[in-house]
Amino acid sequence: MDFELSEEQKLIQDTAYKFAVKEFEPIAKECDREEKRPEGLLQKGAEIGLVGITIPEEYGGGGLGFLELALVTEQLSRVDMGLGSVVITSAFGSENIQFFGTEEQKKKYLPPLVTGKAATSGAYTEPNAGTDVAATRTKAVKDGDEYVITGNKMFITNGSFADWFITLCVTNPDNKRFQRHSLILIESDRKGITVNKIHGKMGMRASDTTEIAFEEVRVPCANLIGKEGNAFPQLMHFFDATRTMVAAQGIGLAQGALDKTLTYIKEREVFGKPIFANQGVQFIVAEMATRIELARTLDYRAAWYVDQGKTNPSLNAMAKYFAGETAVWVCDKALQLHGGYGYIDEYDVQRYYRDAKVLEIYEGAKEAEKLTIARMMMK
Ligand SMILES: Cc1cc2nc3c(=O)[nH]c(=O)nc-3n(C[C@H](O)[C@H](O)[C@H](O)COP(=O)(O)OP(=O)(O)OC[C@H]3O[C@@H](n4cnc5c(N)ncnc54)[C@H](O)[C@@H]3O)c2cc1C
Repeated sequence: MDFELSEEQKLIQDTAYKFAVKEFEPIAKECDREEKRPEGLLQKGAEIGLVGITIPEEYGGGGLGFLELALVTEQLSRVDMGLGSVVITSAFGSENIQFFGTEEQKKKYLPPLVTGKAATSGAYTEPNAGTDVAATRTKAVKDGDEYVITGNKMFITNGSFADWFITLCVTNPDNKRFQRHSLILIESDRKGITVNKIHGKMGMRASDTTEIAFEEVRVPCANLIGKEGNAFPQLMHFFDATRTMVAAQGIGLAQGALDKTLTYIKEREVFGKPIFANQGVQFIVAEMATRIELARTLDYRAAWYVDQGKTNPSLNAMAKYFAGETAVWVCDKALQLHGGYGYIDEYDVQRYYRDAKVLEIYEGAKEAEKLTIARMMMK
């Protein structure tokens, strides 16, 4: 057993952190206030190899594992989770192509993601079905060698600029509940698609979130990813891997909140001494650091298993829900220790606090993660 990261992994970590400090720090407040996704940021990330990390080298990607993806995600989110998401999620969903696509699909869709020339979205959630994803109703009806797709998707990341949506559709309505759906790639320039950006999010405001309407959109049957009626096993495999990335967002964000808190409480004095000098405060920051370290160890282990081809769904669900809860808890303490200054947007902790909450909701609400863990124990 070796808990030490390799020199290459440390270099990846360092590169990602320096990139985030240089590129995110000067614009993070503005992007948050104005709900702005900065032009060119994705391409800058792509230039130094931060995009498409897990895509195999033969398709232009980094050819690295989910542990390396977690390391990069953590360091980007440490500075700003919304801007980190702009860089990391542009290829998010491409794993479906990577794992289940045909050779032709891989050659066509993966390389442009790595260079930042294209972006993808994973369109699963609908206005009336999120956690209960099997209740989604967007339908894809075969007409000759095309699917005709009609339905609505909700909360879709990157929808405004994605070049294609990997969309969960009902193709086999008469099958059993978990055998009705398929994943179909829909290019965003096809006729019948309307995308609306969702404004007024609590956090992650630099990241694009959208609702998408498909009105009799025609795509070739060759756009099916994997097998018909097989979306659920495919998505479970996808989420099992990518949860380690979402957990890393929480770990990075929590670490960033702790970093900022330590700087603040060492400088600001109350009752004639730095806030940090109070033993009660030392107990809090010790607990913040311990929880972050626990979340990190859990997530690195989960990602390591994914990379060994021994994915452990229970461990990944633990990593994701615990990292989300840790981020929310740590940010609450961070804001508290900043006092009134923590409550105004001049200080970054309020942004971290707002960004953190989504980690308990998206990519599976934390309750859904706990159900996965419990289900594995029932076996
Ligand atoms: C910023 C953002 C980005 C997102 N990006 C994407 C994206 O790119 N693609 C995509 O497809 N989706 C995306 N989502 C959607 C996200 O995955 C869903 O919001 C999430 O799965 C929860 O679904 P829901 O909102 O419909 O909540 P619901 O399913 O209505 O659940 C509401 C709440 O009920 C509770 N709950 C639900 N079921 C149970 C249960 N069985 N036991 C106990 N409690 C339960 C949970 O607390 C849950 O939060 C995004 C969401 C946000 C906010």
